[in-house]
Amino acid sequence: MATAPRNLLSYVDPQPDSPWLTYLAQVDRVLPYLGELARWGETLKRPKRALIVDVPIEMDDGTVRHFEGFRVQHNLSRGPGKGGVRFHPQVTLEEVMALSAWMTIKNAAVGLPYGGAKGGIRVDPGQLSRKELERMTRRYTSEIGIIIGPQQDIPAPDVNTNAQIMAWMMDTYSMNIGGTATGVVTGKPIPLGGSLGRVKATGRGVFVTGREAARRIGLELAGARIAVQGFGNVGSTAAELFAEAGAKIVAVQDHSGSVMHEGGLDVAALQLHVHAHGGVAGFGEAIADDAFWQVPCDILIPAALEGQMTEARARTTTAKLMLEGANGPTLPIADDVLAERGVLVVPDVLCNAGGVTVSYFEWVQDFSSFFWSEDEINARLDRIMVNAFEQIWGTAERLRISLRTAAFVVACERVLMARAERGLYP
Ligand code: GLU
Repeated sequence: MATAPRNLLSYVDPQPDSPWLTYLAQVDRVLPYLGELARWGETLKRPKRALIVDVPIEMDDGTVRHFEGFRVQHNLSRGPGKGGVRFHPQVTLEEVMALSAWMTIKNAAVGLPYGGAKGGIRVDPGQLSRKELERMTRRYTSEIGIIIGPQQDIPAPDVNTNAQIMAWMMDTYSMNIGGTATGVVTGKPIPLGGSLGRVKATGRGVFVTGREAARRIGLELAGARIAVQGFGNVGSTAAELFAEAGAKIVAVQDHSGSVMHEGGLDVAALQLHVHAHGGVAGFGEAIADDAFWQVPCDILIPAALEGQMTEARARTTTAKLMLEGANGPTLPIADDVLAERGVLVVPDVLCNAGGVTVSYFEWVQDFSSFFWSEDEINARLDRIMVNAFEQIWGTAERLRISLRTAAFVVACERVLMARAERGLYP
């Protein structure tokens, strides 16, 4: 059990293993490496601003339902807020706080000129009709409209949100200001100022950082066995790219169930199956959800939700390399066990930063009204991810710390340096 940090905010009451506690524990690990800047460390442990909104909508049957929505701006020292919006029945303020904080770290770790933010609605979007989903998205956007904007805070897709949701958000914000503000959200459809390569960008970044990490530990991608948890935008793209590189996707788990195939699942066929049936269940050989974690593999890619890599799973995994496609998938205690067992972890704040990196490209393209080719975008993405990986790898070697703590060192130095330079107001 991680000991509860003493500086808990009065409005949070985290359960053990809550993402916010995980984040606080990660911050505590980095403070000893920050020297003088540690004086500003408390900044990292509090969100700058958290907005809770009521989202009432009329349902198709004429009744009215209320949903709980959030937008948290964790830190704006280095630039406008940036981070996705998630629709999920388990969304809470604490979760969104943690996710917004990880965006601060992620954006700084790869050098994007953004602070960190995140939003969410506590809802099971699968239970809503398309029209209800649109009304909810539009009302939520209007409610958080007082703090978002192309120069203030720029939402993007996350769990259960996509380009269509971004189109509704962009339109709602634009109608409210009486103009067309393409730069208010990223991950938009291409005709509305979206960027080529954005949809696959997060998975591509997972692949790029995975390729770099594998090379450093002498793991050949050709023939490597990979298990993937989560087969949404991130997991399915990562699986596709690793399979193209000759790896075998031996097991996949999602909300519908777990499947495996020792010889490697056909990723393209699995993508079609998921498109048609809403989940991986019914494809390949079914296994129990617990058994997924025991399937022999070389690389494990958690690309679903937080807190999935527990102490017990860390003790038994056969993976040599773990690539965090999800945000916050590993509990601090599991991090220690993985380190002890020599499993290399490429942390979320580096591993899945490809999405927000191409979001940044999208935002820049919207401002300049000049659009790049997909090859150009992928090449720039590759370069940014490789540079960030090298810098964080070097920091980890120099200080003899994990890649996660090294990513936090690089990021927190940037955030707190900006904080210190700007000074305290008043
Ligand atoms: N939701 C993604 C993330 O967690 C992307 C955020 C963005 O593009 O702003 O990094």
